[in-house]
Parts: sequence; structure tokens; C-alpha cells
Amino acid sequence: MESPSGKPNLFGLDRAALSQVVAGLGEPAYRVEQIYRWLYRRRARTMAEMTDLTKGVREALAATHDLRWPEVVERGHSRDGTIKYLFRLDDGATIESVYIPEDRRRTICISTQAGCPLKCVFCLTGISGYRRNLKPWEILGQVATVMHEVHRELGGARGAATSEGGFRGGRSQPARRWPQRERPPYHARSAPPEMKTKAWNVVVMGMGEPLLNYESTVIALRALMDPDGFAVAPRKLTLSTVGILPALEKLMQEPVRPNLAISLHAPTKELRRELMPIEERYDIQDVIAAAQRYPIPHGGAVTYEYVLLGGVNDQPTHARALVRLLAGAHGKVNLIPLNPAPEIPFAPPSPEAIDEFCRILSEARITVSVRRPRGQDILAACGQLHLKRGEVPVPAPVAS
Ligand code: SAH
Repeated sequence: MESPSGKPNLFGLDRAALSQVVAGLGEPAYRVEQIYRWLYRRRARTMAEMTDLTKGVREALAATHDLRWPEVVERGHSRDGTIKYLFRLDDGATIESVYIPEDRRRTICISTQAGCPLKCVFCLTGISGYRRNLKPWEILGQVATVMHEVHRELGGARGAATSEGGFRGGRSQPARRWPQRERPPYHARSAPPEMKTKAWNVVVMGMGEPLLNYESTVIALRALMDPDGFAVAPRKLTLSTVGILPALEKLMQEPVRPNLAISLHAPTKELRRELMPIEERYDIQDVIAAAQRYPIPHGGAVTYEYVLLGGVNDQPTHARALVRLLAGAHGKVNLIPLNPAPEIPFAPPSPEAIDEFCRILSEARITVSVRRPRGQDILAACGQLHLKRGEVPVPAPVAS
């Protein structure tokens, strides 16, 4: 995939790749940390801003590399404040991200693949097919773009972008038109109270299965959680997966791991197989056992996601079977009433069915929450904006 300029993108490179770039320029190793912070902490848009690099280094970088985020081609603003972003990538593939403001936090939902090969029967992304894995810059660029735009909007409302002042180890910095970062590293103690209450959450719950794009996803996760990067606290970064077991085992070995959400959606193997073809490969019981071994970040908990499909998996018998399935497991259940669409051959659950399902789980002392629908007026359900534009990727078989 060629970029428009033919130059590789500096944004998205990890420390190892930046080391090669720096060595190629004949520069000392400490440049790696400088560039890393400019890319992921201050989120510079041009090399020219990287003022602690010499002019020669900035020019050499600009001559050999691009510095860019994916292009936003559409923004959908919902009445509830949700903003849906449609990005177009260099090869024409489109992906979605969603910004969800809430009272005490703000959340960005990001994609890791263009389309999805898993074909869960109730998911629009699966219905519309699979195109390819995203590169680290395409994953991180979604977060950078949304944080940048949201912060610019907040800053604009107050007349100026806010900045938290100096950088650790940095010299004095020139005045900047955009915030240097939206919130301090999670270990910082000096954050203003409103920043603390409005911490960023990032959920890897957009298009695609993150654990089928392991390498790029993990490079992105590291930069998101790095205190010298986006500095999102691990417990505020949640990766949602159907449970690709070998990749989940690998993720457990990472020194810093995000919070985990498991897409369950059925209480038995038989029903899950009908809804999620991946069940043939990775057994529901094995997935739960692996999730139970996953080292959750401090303050987090495994979430079991359960999309309620009217009349299909939302009956009291299903709720009781789910109680049995999760007996002895730690974590919580998030019930997600189906976000319906004409292309999805299922109906949402009735309010009574949701209540009853919830009641059965709570009586069994399972922590349960029901996801409130967000952004329905802007087609914020996964895959909807992308379909509306008719840019359906070429369907491909399930990845092996
Ligand atoms: N592949 C990963 C992450 C992307 S899907 C996973 O499956 O977990 C993120 C969540 O959205 C999953 O729990 C998925 O089942 C759910 N989802 C997909 N389509 C939906 C719909 N139409 N309504 C409600 N939730 C949906």
C-alpha cells in the first residue's frame, strides 16, 4: 500500500523502528525518546514542530518520512453528543471510530481491521465483509484525531486551547496552537480536577477483531498506555475480543496489558456456534478459562459482553444457563440490547426481557449492567456509517 507521497509514515512507529530511523540518520539514541514523545504525547502534526531536534534532523526526517493521521471523510454528530468518524485510508478502505461523551468520562471506540472476517450473524461489520488488517498508524491515528478534535472544540469554547505546561525533561516550549496532551500521564498527581473526572477511555470495540491483527494492535496498545505516549491508564483501555486463544495467551505475556472484554453472546456452545462461527475453533469454556487467567490491570475487571437478540438468546432459560456458565468466574456482564439495522436479521429484545434477564443475573450475584444505546440517530452501531456510504469491502473467507 503506497502512501500518496511514497514516503513511510513516522507516526505509528514503535521505539524499535524509530531506533532504526535515528541510526539511519547517524543520530544518537536519545533522539528516539524525543521523537517518541513528539509523536504520541504531544502529537505533533509536522516535523517542524519538534523543536528539541536540530533543524538538520527535522529536515532529514521530513525528507524521508511523512507524518500523518488517517483522513476524516465524514463526521456524524448525534443529539446525545456522540460523534461518529469515518476515515478513508490510502487504499480507499473506510473505517469508523466513535467518540462518546458521558457525565464522568469520555470514550473513544476504535477499529483494528477494515471490515471483519468473523461473520457474527448480528454484526454489520461481519455482514459487510473483510478487507484487511490496519497498520499501527491507522489504529493510533483514530485516537489522535478524536482527542485532537475534541480537545480543540473544548479549548475553542473557552477561547483558547488548554495546555498543562512543561514537559518532563523538556526545555521551554514555544506557544502552540493545540494542546500538548489532553490529560497528564496516569501517574501524575497534578491534574486539574475537571481533567481527572473527564479521563479518556479507549475501547477497542470498533470494526474488526483486534486479536486477529495482533502485531499492529499491540504496537498501538503500547503507545496508548505508555506514560511518554498517550498515557491512557491500562484499566481505562479495554480490548474486546471473541477470544482468539493463542493471541490472548500472548497478550497475557505483555508487560503492560489493557483491560479485557470477552464477546460471549450465548450461554451454550450450541447457541454460540449459531451466532458466532468462531466458536467452532475456540470453545466458549476455554475462552472463559483463559479470560479468568488474564492478568487484569489494577482497578479493572473482565467484562463478558452479551448482545441480547429478541427471542433468540434473551429468554430466562438463557439467563439461567449464563449463570451456570459463569459460576465461579470473576468479572461482570454487560448486556447490550441489539443495535438494529435493516441488514441485521434480528430484532432488539423487549424491555421486559432485558429486565428479567438482568434480574436473574443479579439474583445470582453477578454484577450486571445494560448498555445504553448511543448515537442511534447517526447510525453509530458498528459498521453502519460505512454501509450507508455503500463502500462495502470485498467479502473474504474467515481468516485462519
Ligand atoms: N471483534 C471484537 C471487537 C469488535 S465488536 C469483539 O467481537 O469483541 C465489539 C462489540 O460490539 C462486540 O461485543 C460485538 O458483538 C458488538 N456488536 C456488534 N454488532 C452489534 C450490534 N448490531 N448491536 C449491538 N452490539 C453489537
